[in-house]
Amino acid sequence: MGEHQPMQHVDGERRHGRGEPLVVTDPATAAAVATFTAATAEDVAEAVASAKTALRTWARTTPAARAEVLNRAAVLLAGRAEELAQAETAQTGKSLRMAREFDVPGTVDNTAFFAGAARHLEGKAAAEYDGDHTSMVRREPVGVVGSIAPWNYPLQMAAWKVLPAIAAGNTIVLKPAETTPLTTLLFAEVLTAAGLPPGVFNVVTGTGPVAGEALVSHPDVAMTSFTGSTAVGRRVMELASRRGARVHLELGGKAPFVVFDDADLEAAVQGAVAASLINSGQDCTAATRAYVQRPLYEAFVAGVAEVMASVRVGPPTAEDTDMGPLASHRQRDRVAAVVDRARAAGARVVTGGEAPKVSAAGDDLSAGAFYSPTLVVGAAQDSEIVQEEVFGPVLVVLPFDGDDEGVELANDTPYGLAASAWTRDVFRSLRAAAEIQAGCVWVNDHVPITSEMPHGGVKGSGFGKDMSAYSLEEYTSVKHVMLDRTGVARKGWHRTVFGGR
Ligand code: NAD
Repeated sequence: MGEHQPMQHVDGERRHGRGEPLVVTDPATAAAVATFTAATAEDVAEAVASAKTALRTWARTTPAARAEVLNRAAVLLAGRAEELAQAETAQTGKSLRMAREFDVPGTVDNTAFFAGAARHLEGKAAAEYDGDHTSMVRREPVGVVGSIAPWNYPLQMAAWKVLPAIAAGNTIVLKPAETTPLTTLLFAEVLTAAGLPPGVFNVVTGTGPVAGEALVSHPDVAMTSFTGSTAVGRRVMELASRRGARVHLELGGKAPFVVFDDADLEAAVQGAVAASLINSGQDCTAATRAYVQRPLYEAFVAGVAEVMASVRVGPPTAEDTDMGPLASHRQRDRVAAVVDRARAAGARVVTGGEAPKVSAAGDDLSAGAFYSPTLVVGAAQDSEIVQEEVFGPVLVVLPFDGDDEGVELANDTPYGLAASAWTRDVFRSLRAAAEIQAGCVWVNDHVPITSEMPHGGVKGSGFGKDMSAYSLEEYTSVKHVMLDRTGVARKGWHRTVFGGR
């Protein structure tokens, strides 16, 4: 590719970065999709300055005015759905079916949701709690938010960060992953076209160590909201802590999928395959560890192996492709290395475990970052493939005996983002919902999300909520305002200072 494309969106317009040249690559073919120059610390500083200026007016707009922009944006996004889906697929390799049916509609719905939510911040009633004063709570914007997003769901992750922040009256500078900036920039373009004032939402496209660290460390950034790996999340927290600045962290996951012996086996098998292969397994909530109670174990493994082997891996734009490549060659190689190490440690690969060179339909896949749906058994609970996030189309299955053991194994990793329990027994389902340590527990399903409900983890998966009214609150500060209602000079409580005089 010759010309660099402007991949910064600052003050309502596209700009070039001042940094090194970078390439957006189609992982299905290894072809360059776009080249651009990365954001430097100076570019980040310009974006933060723009957000700081815009904050003065945006923070004072009425909730109705913010909702009007977001409602218009939802309509404009829906009108550009196909363009967004194509761009998302080109930069991530996810199937076009997935981009069309999940990523883009999810973002349109989120935008419409936050238009409504902007007008619906809730709080305590103003009242005379101590008798002598009227107390009220103001929920105010935090200020300039710096956000950092990952490459697995670039459009949705941008939406989850930007929408609650601007709905609550903040302004924002977002850094997408440098490998997947295209749809984030389209999102910014659409919001600008919908009437979002320049500077309210800026995009800086650059690398983590340069643009990311500059954004987290900038003195005018009041809060960092980060989605990405646990290791980088800890680095972000460390940098923010040097300034005592606020953080919101959505980190990695290692979701357990617990199948009790009374479960609907067919539903659990179908659910496990869908939930482990969604987005080529590069989903922070994907089912990664299935624990199956002994009586169902053999049948579950056989069922999953059969259904997994029927999933069609191929070019992401082909109609009959179920699963495209991983989002980069680097990620594919990481996944392959974890599976190889598990094999070397004695685990058995029941199906998959290789990089396919040709699809079932005969397409040449050799240049792409493909990896076949993979089922692993016989891994030890304390092994890497059970404990660490693989972030690929890999499911490990392990047996358990008593219910206590199932719950204990589910909780035995450093992560706590999402989990599911499969049972027809109401008591087992309630117990699993209460005792599995995760930000979300599904019962008899695994993966669905909805704009009205919060998403976020516990333990090593971070803290803070995306989506829902809870995320709107995350982007506000609570202020208590207390007004004297006695009108007297010597207040009742002055006695503690003046005594009876
Ligand atoms: P990553 O942590 O490598 O990168 C995430 C972002 O951080 C990127 O934009 C990257 O450029 C930036 N970054 C890297 N180093 C940085 C630094 N030193 N300072 C500041 N920013 C830096 O993660 P990834 O590989 O892009 O994404 C996959 C990870 O994201 C997985 O761990 C996955 O579980 C997690 N994830 C979590 C959620 C959630 O909601 N909890 C959602 C999606 C993805």
